[in-house]
Amino acid sequence: MKTLIGAGEECNEVYVFRGVIRASAHNIAAKSSGGRDLWHRRLGHPSSRILSYLLSYVDVGKPAHMETVCDTCFRAKHTRDCFQESYNKAAELFGLIHCDIWGPYRTVSSSGASYFLTIVDDFSRAVWIYLLREKREVASTIEKFCAMVDRQFDKKVKILRSDNGLEFMCLKPFLEKEGMLHQTSCVYTPQKNGRMERKHRHILNVSRSIMFQAHLPIQFWGECVLAEAHLINRTPLTLLNGKTQYELLYNEPLPFSKLKVFGCLCYAHNVSRDKDKFGERSRRCVFVGYPNGHKAWRVFDLETEEYFFSRDVVFHENEFPFSSPPKATEALPIVSIPETWDDDFEKHGQLVTTLMEIHEPTGGDVRGSSEETNEVREDNEVRGVLMELT
Ligand SMILES: [Zn+2]
Repeated sequence: MKTLIGAGEECNEVYVFRGVIRASAHNIAAKSSGGRDLWHRRLGHPSSRILSYLLSYVDVGKPAHMETVCDTCFRAKHTRDCFQESYNKAAELFGLIHCDIWGPYRTVSSSGASYFLTIVDDFSRAVWIYLLREKREVASTIEKFCAMVDRQFDKKVKILRSDNGLEFMCLKPFLEKEGMLHQTSCVYTPQKNGRMERKHRHILNVSRSIMFQAHLPIQFWGECVLAEAHLINRTPLTLLNGKTQYELLYNEPLPFSKLKVFGCLCYAHNVSRDKDKFGERSRRCVFVGYPNGHKAWRVFDLETEEYFFSRDVVFHENEFPFSSPPKATEALPIVSIPETWDDDFEKHGQLVTTLMEIHEPTGGDVRGSSEETNEVREDNEVRGVLMELT
């Protein structure tokens, strides 16, 4: 059964919603406080099908007869299971890795980064993201990654694929010394590294949705992409027969209990005031990620504005300290869901703008070609009816 829940009104070649849908989405989401909704938010808004894979791991609840509408999914404009690929993959872990850099972004992240480097293992599809201040950090980061693979997984990276940007070409002496092959885009395909571009788009889409969910200021974009990499590796993939990248990498069951709703309110135990009998026992924080190599959570102290790790945290997964209550009269424009991103969306409202900014670097390798923009426009024109639920 298909139920029409909204239709767009054309404005500058884009179909725009006028608030009505958002209000109804809120109402429906409020009613669904069950496990499925919570896991949907914890995992960065995956599709219902992906959630179904989780049934063999945790009780995520059965799909409702009529699926609920997620406000964040509507606003962030993506479907989480979109990273479909149909190509032969490498025969073993780390036999082939794909690398690409994104940026520079005009807002420096809280850690001072303007770029991020993405490394994808072709066999497991596992993703690593590193925030970088400058492009020239790419070479040393990849060298450290290869050392990590050697030490932690007892594997050697055999082939590295990237575009032929200078930041990758300067790896030549290292790759030769290590006996690794470097395949650049001009060798294996005349176009740019399309696979990595899709991956980046996917990462940015989901980062945007978890940022929307938490109403975080834009300087948290670095935390969002790092959290997204963590979630990608812990989300079952159709391509892996419903298994997660984590399981392929570590050959052990996924510790689901660690996953919490990104950007939610939390209280971290206040170690420094333990000796003060009248001191506050916990610090009011926002949950901002999963630190690498620590069995802890990364949190941001709302009072002191410090980041720190804590293993002793109480989470309030339905509360978001950065959110402000939506105005009843607010007519939030929501644009249609394109497969790709487009600058044009920036015209359509503040909330949409904030997160769209993530997509478009200020200079350097600007990814969106004019061809792509035209495709998006055509796509929007075709989508007169924006949202239908099955
Ligand atoms: Zn959602």
